[in-house]
Amino acid sequence: MGKKKKHTSALHEVDGVNQPASTNETSIQKIKLTRNKLPSTLEFVKHILKGDRIYLSRAITLIESTNSKHKGKASEIVTACLPHANNSVRIGITGVPGVGKSTFIEVFGKVLTTLGKKVAVLAIDPSSSINRGSILGDKTRMPELVKDKNAFIRPSPSGKSLGGVAQKTRETIILCEAAGFDTIIIETVGVGQSEIAVHSMVDFFLLLKLAGAGDELQGIKRGIIEMADAIVINKADGTNTKQAEFAKAEFSRALHLYPLKKSTWQPKVTTCSAIEDTGIDTVWKIIETYIELTKSTSYFEEQRNEQNTFWVLETINEQLKNNFYNHSEIKKILPKVLQQVQIHKLSPFEAAKKVLTTYTKLSK
Ligand code: GDP
Repeated sequence: MGKKKKHTSALHEVDGVNQPASTNETSIQKIKLTRNKLPSTLEFVKHILKGDRIYLSRAITLIESTNSKHKGKASEIVTACLPHANNSVRIGITGVPGVGKSTFIEVFGKVLTTLGKKVAVLAIDPSSSINRGSILGDKTRMPELVKDKNAFIRPSPSGKSLGGVAQKTRETIILCEAAGFDTIIIETVGVGQSEIAVHSMVDFFLLLKLAGAGDELQGIKRGIIEMADAIVINKADGTNTKQAEFAKAEFSRALHLYPLKKSTWQPKVTTCSAIEDTGIDTVWKIIETYIELTKSTSYFEEQRNEQNTFWVLETINEQLKNNFYNHSEIKKILPKVLQQVQIHKLSPFEAAKKVLTTYTKLSK
């Protein structure tokens, strides 16, 4: 036996007392597992049903991925989760930037989790398709809710089209519901078409407004007011309180002039201050009353069925359009035909017919 080698390096560690691991090995294993290898669909579903957020987040990332393998896996997971979904209240919240959406959702979410609810906050942000940056559903905008173990916040997915983004959000709703979230909040910004998309995926649609500023100033279209099940005038605090009450009375009067909704629900108007946390529980009471009413008349189920039909057709339309415009032959002939229209050689209708006929022949 040779002599033991003498270590001169200061970095050498001598045997001593065994120290407990400074990290949680189970968590590390779990993270490694989810990072490195794609778990099986069965495994994803098993963990999502248990409410495991790591698997839930990872599955949502697959939904948002452009990789076809990921998309396939996501689709399997969503289908497997479907029988466990649907058991929730889905609330859409819209309003122009600055109206106080994130401040409101933060306190509203807290009211709900205090009541023992499990809240998921998702977002549809049309601007994220353009600049790839998400302004909605951003965790830093809801610092308290993000720490709440009964809340789950996911920023808006980005995508080329609103339809694509909306589909991702719809699928995310299914996964969140399967994971046990019983209240789903979908936030969107009050511009463009995104409210229509959100309206067609929620049970209750809430419009946040400011007192004093006209609808044009707030970029609110009449159609959006018609879609609302409740109008909540935020920032009813300080010197603004009186004006907010005035706006409430005005809106209540105006809403009575609209025809009765199919749900037979008379939209409500209320005021709140997200910053002072006043009037927020009233909003929840309004939603509860609505849910009670629509469940008793079966409108709740009917609306969900109608929404499902709408999304089947929307998805088909979107897919057909994509197939059409991405077809190599169409990409070739479309600019030529458009050129012929410009120089008055073809009428727009003849041009469209020509391209469509070509496509029909190509698809045979
Ligand atoms: P978002 O763009 O719609 O999400 O609006 P934010 O929640 O970011 O709020 C925009 C600004 O309005 C922030 O400076 C908030 O502090 C402020 N704000 C939000 N809610 C209220 C409120 O109830 N009262 C007052 N006075 N200010 C508020």
